Amino acid sequence: MTQHTRLDQTPIPFIDLAAQKRRMGAAVDDAVLRVLAHGQYCMGPEVFAFERALAEFGGARHALSCASGTDALLLVLMAKGIGPGDAVICPTFTFCATAEVAALLGATPVLADVDAATFNLDPKSVERAIATAKKAGLKPKAIIPVDLFGLSADHDAIGAIARAENLFILDDAAQAFGANYKGRRLGTCGLATATSFFPAKPLGAYGDGGAVLTDDDDLIDVLKSLRVHGQGTDKYDTVRIGLTGRLDTVQAAVLIEKLKIFPDEIAARDAVAARYAAGLSDVATVPFVPDGYQSVWAQYTIRLAPGRRDALGVALKSQGIPTAIYYPKPLHKQTAYARFPIAEGGLPVSERLADEVISLPMHPYLDAPTQDRIIGAVRAALRG
Ligand SMILES: *Cc1c(COP(=O)(O)O)cnc(C)c1O
Repeated sequence: MTQHTRLDQTPIPFIDLAAQKRRMGAAVDDAVLRVLAHGQYCMGPEVFAFERALAEFGGARHALSCASGTDALLLVLMAKGIGPGDAVICPTFTFCATAEVAALLGATPVLADVDAATFNLDPKSVERAIATAKKAGLKPKAIIPVDLFGLSADHDAIGAIARAENLFILDDAAQAFGANYKGRRLGTCGLATATSFFPAKPLGAYGDGGAVLTDDDDLIDVLKSLRVHGQGTDKYDTVRIGLTGRLDTVQAAVLIEKLKIFPDEIAARDAVAARYAAGLSDVATVPFVPDGYQSVWAQYTIRLAPGRRDALGVALKSQGIPTAIYYPKPLHKQTAYARFPIAEGGLPVSERLADEVISLPMHPYLDAPTQDRIIGAVRAALRG
């Protein structure tokens, strides 16, 4: 008889920013100290250097850094004059910020369903949401596709609907900056791409931050103005209603260093995802990545038969393995969003996903032995 070895129950982090910090050594500390030395805390040289690097990385003509991913979305809708009477189509299976920005401006978010395999906007539901908006007397103006969990939305299909209906696309790539869609990085799908540098996102700062990427020369000028209170030709000339929407110079300095290792981190995330898929695809529905797409794996989200995921979460927690539910409620079931219209035919896929999904630890520094511990624990819990 073999001796039973005690299970390793050392807590595993869901995202390991400390491992990333160790890898970068003194590079970030030195970058921050340089900002403290020159003292240009707002709009210092690092902000503009970061914007140039970001535009190049995303393949866009322009990048505008700002205070958060939410501000990135908001600034674009403000620049386009979105307001009362306008409908903005977005998925219901997303983080609230996607719809929040439309509602903040007095416009109406109209919620559409997602595809069960990719978790991203279902083009047919987008068409139904546009019809819903028109019947309600609203003017459809924009679609905000979300690239959920790091995987690009079906931008060709959604872009075709937008062109046919004369709407603009604002890509919510808060979870997916760096992802590849049919041979190019996100940053040029639609009029503008918004992203977030919240610390837990694939490219995270040490605080809040965000950016807009666009090829549109006129839009970038308006965004620059809106970011600093609608500034005109100089500081004392105010030509539109704007925000305090700047990215701190310290965060730009951190992000310049993190962007340098980001391609390597994306490859490491992909290897972690491949290992999960190999270890779990016979016991759970693992994420689907269509041909020609590369995810940046903001989350590694599996699906289980209804009623099974809570027990899995409890079993893993008792072994020091954290999980998360993104998202337990689609937006149309949230108190603040329940009053907004939903696409004709309802949102059944999102409702089902909200009961079936569970996300496992995912970051570029998840080593093979630790991951095998997670895979073993998931298998044991699902088979037991
Ligand atoms: C994180 C996130 C945002 C908002 O980003 P913040 O930087 O936190 O404001 C918007 N949309 C989605 C899909 C997100 O995941």
